Amino acid sequence: MATSSTAAPPASPGHPAGHAALVRDLQNALGAAAVLHLPEDLIAFEYDATIERALPEVVVFPATTEDVSAAVRIAEQHLRPVVPRGSGSGLSGGAVPLTGGVLVVLTKMNRILEIDRANRVAVLQPGVINLQLQEAVAPHGLLFAPDPSSQRVCSLGGNVANNSGGPHTLAHGSTVNHVLGLEVVLPGGRITRLGGRLVDAPGIDLRGLFVGSEGTLGIVTEITVRLVRAAPAVRTLVAVFDSVEAASEAVSAIIRRGIIPVALEMLDREIIRLVEPRIHAGYPLDAGAVLLIEVEGLAEGVDADGAAVEEACHLAGAREIRVAHTAAERDRLWEARKVGIGAIGAASPAFYLLDGVVPRTRLPAVMRGVMETSARYGFRVANIFHAGDGNLHPNLMFDPDEEGATARVLECAEEIMRLCVDAGGAVTGEHGIGLEKRSYMEWIYSPADLAAMHAVRVAFGGAERFNPCKVLPGGHGCASGHGAEAMAAIRRGSDSV
Ligand SMILES: Cc1cc2nc3c(=O)[nH]c(=O)nc-3n(C[C@H](O)[C@H](O)[C@H](O)COP(=O)(O)OP(=O)(O)OC[C@H]3O[C@@H](n4cnc5c(N)ncnc54)[C@H](O)[C@@H]3O)c2cc1C
Repeated sequence: MATSSTAAPPASPGHPAGHAALVRDLQNALGAAAVLHLPEDLIAFEYDATIERALPEVVVFPATTEDVSAAVRIAEQHLRPVVPRGSGSGLSGGAVPLTGGVLVVLTKMNRILEIDRANRVAVLQPGVINLQLQEAVAPHGLLFAPDPSSQRVCSLGGNVANNSGGPHTLAHGSTVNHVLGLEVVLPGGRITRLGGRLVDAPGIDLRGLFVGSEGTLGIVTEITVRLVRAAPAVRTLVAVFDSVEAASEAVSAIIRRGIIPVALEMLDREIIRLVEPRIHAGYPLDAGAVLLIEVEGLAEGVDADGAAVEEACHLAGAREIRVAHTAAERDRLWEARKVGIGAIGAASPAFYLLDGVVPRTRLPAVMRGVMETSARYGFRVANIFHAGDGNLHPNLMFDPDEEGATARVLECAEEIMRLCVDAGGAVTGEHGIGLEKRSYMEWIYSPADLAAMHAVRVAFGGAERFNPCKVLPGGHGCASGHGAEAMAAIRRGSDSV
């Protein structure tokens, strides 16, 4: 990182009017070390985990809620939008500052403020990493149920903004079911509390509204979460199938028996061949797909549920079931699941990770469609996903340097998203709409539905202040279409809305 300069930045043709004054005011309020404005520093903040890119004008690192409030106020005075950012692991372009402005990075607000064991509540700052919280509460026999596969890097603020899920949210529910209260900074820098420490706070549930709003309503500066007791017994097993379709059939067969495993994940052949040589977890290299299944509860219940799951898998065509006998075996099976996406990154110059959701009974047909569509476009596809939730994640592997490949990948992704919607599903299961899927919102919502969402943003202070061009189609200065296309249009100086 280049040294941040306290001197006002020089006027440059690349900077919007008033840039120097904006930087100076932010430096005065937050301290020079908390403000980045040099081009070589800004480059590190132009992306998240998608293929989207856009440079912020300034990046700030608040240390307190008051710093966040000051940054929001100053950005407003200078007519700049504000984009919140956690760890930048988002998979929908949510933290990419499409129209520039002030990027507020919450990573320095990373303290766990309280763990209240008796009431099973924790209070934390938004930059706390998901795994940091899990590790802090585990010695007390507690856990924070939402466990995104990115839990080693993603922040709780990002989890709240995206209403993130994870392998273990099948039985426990996603982030919104585990957030009790929030402190947020709204337009004007106003600091407000939503919800509280109780499960059901009186009044309109603005906490629920804020969770999943993807940084478009304000900035989360403190989070109060519900913790659950770690189950006394757990059984982890792997069911091996010859095809993705057979494994998909087994998913419904298990749930039809009235069993909700705490996790029900699928890894296909491509993924197994990428992770097994690295992790040696015992996934068979010749499998078409495996289901990684976990049941938990009291010991007797776990025995009964485990036996029922095994039977359902055998009847659906599983050729083999392997049970983890030790904690180390279990950890290795999960390790392979958690590093799966990174392994794709190591095997291909680029990949495009899709996130769709379908009723789980439609999984076999939709997965067939995913394989056919990606083959027709000539892309290798690897599937690793939360099968129990019907939440698929096809990963299309491609080379962005190949002429037209990025455009074809986006076209292919759009077809697959269409398959999900036509099957009665939706265009995201957990990664959010962000930049990349806002044009798909019209497939699932009527103009009246979208107008209602827009009205919420207006009520919170307007659609242009926080994270403009995200979630909802349209918006002043936001070209329409996919994020990558929209950015290209904006660079060409077009505003199609
Ligand atoms: C390998 C890999 C695996 C993943 N697995 C999963 C998974 O299993 N489940 C899942 O749900 N997601 C998963 N993700 C996606 C991602 O990790 C989550 O969406 C995560 O919650 C993003 O957190 P972040 O801190 O990185 O947020 P960022 O990417 O920085 O931001 C995400 C969004 O949140 C907003 N935001 C961030 N902080 C705040 C705040 N304090 N206040 C208001 N808005 C804020 C941003 O503006 C943006 O819109 C995965 C990503 C990767 C790369």
